[in-house]
Amino acid sequence: MTEISRLTRAIRTGLEWDTSVGAVVPPIHVSTNYRFETPDRRGGYDYSRSGNPTRDLLGTALGILEGGQPAVITGTGMGAVTTAVLACTEPGDTVAIPHDCYGGTWRLFARLAERQHLELVVLNFTDTAAAAARLRELRPTLVWLETPSNPLLRITDIATLTEAAHAAGALVAADNTFCSPVRQQPLDLGADLVIHSTTKYVNGHSDVVGGAVVAREPELAETIGYWANTLGTTGGALDAWLTLRGLRTLPLRMRQHEQNAAAVVETLIGHEAVGAVHYPGLPEHPGHELAARQQQGFGGMLSFELSGIPAVEAFLDGLACFSLAESLGGTESLVCHPGLMTHAAMPPEVQREAGITPGLLRLSVGIEETDDLVTDVRAGLARAAAVDA
Ligand code: PLP
Repeated sequence: MTEISRLTRAIRTGLEWDTSVGAVVPPIHVSTNYRFETPDRRGGYDYSRSGNPTRDLLGTALGILEGGQPAVITGTGMGAVTTAVLACTEPGDTVAIPHDCYGGTWRLFARLAERQHLELVVLNFTDTAAAAARLRELRPTLVWLETPSNPLLRITDIATLTEAAHAAGALVAADNTFCSPVRQQPLDLGADLVIHSTTKYVNGHSDVVGGAVVAREPELAETIGYWANTLGTTGGALDAWLTLRGLRTLPLRMRQHEQNAAAVVETLIGHEAVGAVHYPGLPEHPGHELAARQQQGFGGMLSFELSGIPAVEAFLDGLACFSLAESLGGTESLVCHPGLMTHAAMPPEVQREAGITPGLLRLSVGIEETDDLVTDVRAGLARAAAVDA
């Protein structure tokens, strides 16, 4: 029998699954409820919050890509974060999170800590040795990793930190949204859970909000599924179907995202208006070697620093190929100001601690023609330089 790669198996998930009319592409099951044979005999499904065949196909594909159990599919990425946290912690447990994680994730943990649902410890995971030593001291229940981080693209050593976390008795969850499952597989590096905002690269078309949790072990997958149903965080069938359709082109899209990101980075590097460029593909990036080792590519996300708000405004004013918008990972190029947009939930001192400056811009480089993006960025930088002059 031919050995089929993870990628091909994931891309082909659900094809020829329909037995009613022989459709190649799977149908969408929108029914909220399923017929029982007798009151005590149900078929495979009973109620769509608890289980839905279309949602299960997406879960299967993501589980294959991440090398874990079938994913639990949630209505949003934050639904996936919430489900994972509540499933894995009890009141009073200690949770360690990165100092520069996604603003919404930070807000959830901060609010849960304020309400004494958990003890929160914020660590700089890019200092692997110091963070590992703190984990040994703290003995947390859950360690939350996000690599590359949002918005500074810092890289965390998943394997080393997971080993330290496990030795301290903790479970490890890794948010893999920035890389997508075709560029990094945290479960293969030892993590217990992978989280996705499928809103981003997995769906890839900026038209569905969704999330996923993939567990390495069946028992943890069952616990996550139980909590998703109990909390009511599971996703809808139409969303799952669209996301599965998007996932089928993920490897192709990611190649173009990366080609374009590399060209944009080249345009930014050394430009008089640019203070710093954060992209793990750059040899001088502090996490470059680690990213080259634990990722299969450097992704389509990058950030860079201009001198301040006036230069930012000049750069933005006139862009033709980058929409000023939050989110990321879609086919279209986006620019965002993390301090005022995605990370606005973080108070100024927390932003400073995380390295988010007023001049920082984040790009989600899309799959448009490379030359168009480069020309657009070059013109924006000329406008920013004129303000600085
Ligand atoms: N994790 C990361 C890294 C994100 O960037 C986001 C959203 O931007 C989320 C989680 C939350 O996902 P959603 O917006 O789908 O709820």
